[in-house]
Amino acid sequence: MINPYEMAKEQVDIVRPYLRDISDDTFEALKTTKLEYIVNFPVRMDDGSTKVFRGYRVRHNDARGPSKGGLRFHPSVDLDEVKALAMWMSWKAAVVNIPYGGAKGGIQCDPKAMSQGEIERMTRRYTNEIAPVIGPEKDIPAPDMNTNPQTMVWIMDTYSMLKGYSVPGVVTGKPVEMGGSLGRMEATGRGVCLIGLQAAAFLNMPVEGASVVVQGCGNVGSISAKQFAAHGAKIIAICDSMCGVYNRNGLDIDMVMDCKNRDGCLTSSKIEGDVITNKELLELECDILIPAALENQITEENVNNIRCKLLLEGANGPTTPEADRVLFDKGIMVAPDILANAGGVTVSYFEWVQNLQELLWSEDEVQTRLGNILHRSFQQILDLKVTHGVNMRTAAYILGVGRVAKAMQLRGVWP
Ligand code: NAD
Repeated sequence: MINPYEMAKEQVDIVRPYLRDISDDTFEALKTTKLEYIVNFPVRMDDGSTKVFRGYRVRHNDARGPSKGGLRFHPSVDLDEVKALAMWMSWKAAVVNIPYGGAKGGIQCDPKAMSQGEIERMTRRYTNEIAPVIGPEKDIPAPDMNTNPQTMVWIMDTYSMLKGYSVPGVVTGKPVEMGGSLGRMEATGRGVCLIGLQAAAFLNMPVEGASVVVQGCGNVGSISAKQFAAHGAKIIAICDSMCGVYNRNGLDIDMVMDCKNRDGCLTSSKIEGDVITNKELLELECDILIPAALENQITEENVNNIRCKLLLEGANGPTTPEADRVLFDKGIMVAPDILANAGGVTVSYFEWVQNLQELLWSEDEVQTRLGNILHRSFQQILDLKVTHGVNMRTAAYILGVGRVAKAMQLRGVWP
């Protein structure tokens, strides 16, 4: 298994030759995290027993502003995974040029085996433990795998109880009724699609009728699929952690998601399609492939079997550097995670701005601003790609890493 933190550092090294005005010391500092906070804390379980959980909050860099990043509940969460995810957040915020650094958090747990009450008590106790290192001016969590708007409200409420007053700006991705921004729920998937439309235009590939394969049908996967379907694309396959469904003529994505939400799986007889494995799904011939589940999905082992024209990274870190090189040689365009899924952090930023200023923007305002930011970032990355003759990921890293490095050099070293 590839260590995601090693992979994240390797990705930074790849752009070293293109950032000659950055000193070696600054470059090395970029590959280290600013703060690694590990907490072990007890939670009362429904059966009366007490279980100790391990949680993490990592701040990679805050040279450009308070740090920002999601919170993940998953059995495989560990320190190196959280460090890698925090580092990717720094580059992502810089790519879309919003005034944030990068952070990430996680709890090693299996939420599928826990009741809602247990998840709530775990979330609240974790918030209590990490309260010294989060806050609207310090570090602002948001949803990630297996966390959602309700999780964010529990964090906001617990943090506010500790402070003695309401602090909505401590998290983003809250429900609209609780200070969330209109459009935040859909923002990541909408952004994946907006970047996909621009990339498809660059490739002269019509989106209408294009075949799309999606790995994962959570927040990012399901919304990306619905957005592409709304643009006339055919969603030919989608999966969850257990299996996928495939129909060459296109799935009825609303029906698929209704079944998934109702039954918790994709095997309903109501879905017109064949059940396939997750391995088969990734290797299907298609125009657009969207990994929207976990990291390390396209690796040396399966990259030669990847048969898409455009790879849109909805997930963070789904492609290893070795696989990236092969994809480039095969002429497959990759819209990298730090661009393709940046719609989420961008609208999170809008939510935070609205919370701090006690403003409420209309959905139109949110969508227009999001569209403008993603359009500009895509164009800047495309220009760098053409100027340096590199792939889209390297171009995005030149932009993102370069901006963070510049901020660090301008601030200098204190004292
Ligand atoms: P989610 O929990 O809503 O959905 C995750 C999906 O992945 C589920 O459908 C799950 O069944 C599937 N999955 C899990 N393990 C799998 C496996 N081994 N094989 C295939 N599918 C598997 O999570 P999400 O918020 O949609 O996040 C998905 C990815 O997108 C993560 O990499 C996350 O870091 C990234 N991301 C999320 C956001 C956001 O706003 N939610 C923003 C940026 C990036």
